[in-house]
Amino acid sequence: MRVLVSEVIWQEGIDELKDQGFEVVYDEELWTDRERLVRSVKEFDGLIVRNQTKVDEELLQSGEKLKVIGRLGVGLDNINIKAAKEKGIDVVFAKNANATSVAEYVMSAILSSNRSLFTASQDVLKGTWDRRRHTGGEIYEKTIGLIGLGEIAHRVAKRAKVFGMDVVGYDPFITEYEHIVAETGVNVKNSLEEVLAISDFVSIHVPLNPSTTYLLNSKTLKEMKPNAFLINTSRGGIVDEEALAKALREKHIGGAFLDVLEKEPIDSEHPLLLQPDAIITPHIAGLTNESQVRTSVLVAKEVSKILKG
Ligand code: NAD
Repeated sequence: MRVLVSEVIWQEGIDELKDQGFEVVYDEELWTDRERLVRSVKEFDGLIVRNQTKVDEELLQSGEKLKVIGRLGVGLDNINIKAAKEKGIDVVFAKNANATSVAEYVMSAILSSNRSLFTASQDVLKGTWDRRRHTGGEIYEKTIGLIGLGEIAHRVAKRAKVFGMDVVGYDPFITEYEHIVAETGVNVKNSLEEVLAISDFVSIHVPLNPSTTYLLNSKTLKEMKPNAFLINTSRGGIVDEEALAKALREKHIGGAFLDVLEKEPIDSEHPLLLQPDAIITPHIAGLTNESQVRTSVLVAKEVSKILKG
């Protein structure tokens, strides 16, 4: 049987597929040539994509032998799940494969927030040796508020606890908290406002949906402590970016780390780019070598399992 990979996969994933006896055709640029992609897919039993290949009705229709679509990641918005289901094509993805990477990104944001490592280093490069100017702040006994208490939040909570932080959280969709409390030590609150009011760091870990769109807005941002940091590694659209830029400009909050934005890449005129206290990264929180190896091997294994029945 044959598997087509139309976007970047780590070599370990290809090796896994070959070890399982599949013929693999790997072309990481194939997604850019729609016509060739639609033509090529006809001859394959499995298709592995990342987030660029549009797996729509047309592509599924053309893939007359397809039995499985593997998604190298978690979001499935580029795949027409309903159409795949109707055609009896399974869709598998890399559940939790990058959760640890995201949690480590959050910890690095927290740890670097009050230590001015980059500006101190720039000062030294410019010949300035000013220790007082770079007096830092500890995270020990500070409070981190987790919005959403799923997989990534669990990993952040455990790591924050090790650093001696108080961990609070809010997730109205979890009805049984006991095991989360036992496992992570998180102090679960009944409202978002309660968490925002007491947290030195607020880290967002909810999916983007109608209930979370602009969850952090001009009103809720005002509930945060004046020196608190906001960290968003989830999805753009959960934070109202205009309101955040204003909150930073007017010093309602201390700073923000944003790995995701409503529109990626960010517009060159975006008001957040004028805020030195907004640290913006290009959607890399989950992107590490380890997570990519894990993702590639996991998806290769899941695809193999389906193809082998
Ligand atoms: P998860 O499904 O395990 O947890 C999400 C939690 O959010 C659930 O417990 C759910 O009950 C809760 N929730 C939903 N709506 C809520 C609301 N209105 N208020 C409070 N809680 C609410 O998800 P996860 O694996 O922890 O991932 C969280 C987010 O991180 C996802 O949106 C994902 O897309 C994003 N993510 C980003 C990157 C990156 O590279 N930046 C990588 C991986 C995942």
